Amino acid sequence: MKMDRRQFCALGTAGAFAAIAGGMLGCSSGEKTPAADDKAADAAASTQADAASAKAAAMAMGDADVNFAQEVDILIVGAGISGMFAAIDPAAAGKNVLICEQNGTFGGDAIYSAACQMCSTAKLTQEERPEKYSTPEEIREKFAPYYEEGDPALDFTVLLQTWSGKFIDRMHYDWGYEFQPLRESPYHQAFFPKDGLCTMNSEFQLINQKLEEAGAKYSFETTFKTLITDENGEICGARFTKKDGSIFDVKAKAVVLAAGGYVSNQEWMTRYAPEYADLGNIVSGRKGDAIAAGLAAGGQLWKMGPTSNLNPRYEAGHMLGTFYPIICVLPNGKRFYCETAVHNAATGAIAAGYHEWYTIWDNVAQNGQDQELLKHAGEAIQSADSVDELAEKMGLHIETVQGIFDNWHDICEAQEDAEFGRTLFLQELQPPFYFIRNVPVRYKSLGGLKVDEQMHVLDANDQPIKNLYAAGCTAGTEDIVPAAASGLIVAETLVAEV
Ligand SMILES: Cc1cc2nc3c(=O)[nH]c(=O)nc-3n(C[C@H](O)[C@H](O)[C@H](O)COP(=O)(O)OP(=O)(O)OC[C@H]3O[C@@H](n4cnc5c(N)ncnc54)[C@H](O)[C@@H]3O)c2cc1C
Repeated sequence: MKMDRRQFCALGTAGAFAAIAGGMLGCSSGEKTPAADDKAADAAASTQADAASAKAAAMAMGDADVNFAQEVDILIVGAGISGMFAAIDPAAAGKNVLICEQNGTFGGDAIYSAACQMCSTAKLTQEERPEKYSTPEEIREKFAPYYEEGDPALDFTVLLQTWSGKFIDRMHYDWGYEFQPLRESPYHQAFFPKDGLCTMNSEFQLINQKLEEAGAKYSFETTFKTLITDENGEICGARFTKKDGSIFDVKAKAVVLAAGGYVSNQEWMTRYAPEYADLGNIVSGRKGDAIAAGLAAGGQLWKMGPTSNLNPRYEAGHMLGTFYPIICVLPNGKRFYCETAVHNAATGAIAAGYHEWYTIWDNVAQNGQDQELLKHAGEAIQSADSVDELAEKMGLHIETVQGIFDNWHDICEAQEDAEFGRTLFLQELQPPFYFIRNVPVRYKSLGGLKVDEQMHVLDANDQPIKNLYAAGCTAGTEDIVPAAASGLIVAETLVAEV
């Protein structure tokens, strides 16, 4: 249906949205220190700058008249795991749901990720790995030390962790997905896809099947540009561009922003995560478009900052440590972290003063079940039939490389890693050897639009902005399972409210 509401509707440009009163970051209600005041002032200035640039971007669209090409109940921006889960229950409840996605397919970052799905609150955890199961109260106790008293972000973390269990249980008990059987690893609170590391394809095929059965629809190669407001200044849709450059305006009763984070936005990384801003970035198309639009609509940011970890350029360079004997060394031949604590690889190398490291393994990992993980690294993986050849290919002195193996031999013989306390996979490597040279990269951002416990986007006074919701990294979640959990939460809200 072609609608013409140009006399009433406005794009998310200057004046269309409520003023960004104060532009405050979500912060603790505890007593403020002068430093906290400075930080809040800086943050407020940054927030206003981001809102201004969001408005400028919207204006750069040319402010063409609004001309709705489609009308739906619920419009979701982004077909990542959070957006897909936001769609399913409302569609199953009879709502007309459209997901607009800039790429040609669904899945977002998770489909390419290592696919380690951490969750200790699932019924499945309780049944299969009871020692890893946590109640919401235990979760609160565990996370409380990381938050100031009264910080709503702690409540949000507890909420997400609790709903994380519902995601795992929905996949397994309701939809029949069999996660990988428990393997020896330090991550017994994590679920892995049945086909191995780095392939969530089987999970996404199932999620997509449920989404289509529920009746939700996609519009691929459709890029979000800005929100649209009605004559009362309330959000009533969004503007997109199609691959051919044409404008696509969609009218909706509710808009869910689920377009991921801002790791590809160099300016924002410099502002909010300067520690990681100079590192390479392996993710494209996460420029914080949706966060900026929410901000321009009067929303506020929360939890902005560096994430808890970095990645290697090639996932094999750390994730193999989850299940296999590997040795990771700096160019000086020294080990620098416990290889089974996979996420310490990149940060550990930087802490040791290096921006590169080597991961060495043998046929045990090379012929293991995680072939997709190796495929992701492609030709970056090299092999060597002897220590001499390995040294030559690594570009290190033979004595340095021999030293690596001698040190490892001693650890394996003693079955004790006095340096880093590793207890798993203390096995000697046999030729042929394989290795990869890795560099630390950033791969995700932290923080986004502040939301309440129903995933309404909140304004500067912590009041919900009408018709506007957010999920996943756009709402400041980190990792796959909390993103999916936030999708389930917003889905429940939408079923009740739309
Ligand atoms: C290499 C890598 C490895 C990872 N490994 C793990 C892991 O092992 N475990 C873990 O828990 N997490 C991991 N993560 C993080 C995890 O993938 C993310 O936290 C999760 O996928 C976030 O989901 P999301 O739905 O919030 O956003 P995304 O997955 O980013 O999805 C957002 C979607 O919105 C679309 N979009 C963006 N902008 C627009 C726009 N303007 N218009 C229309 N569409 C738009 C994107 O194309 C994308 O499809 C990894 C991430 C990467 C990159």
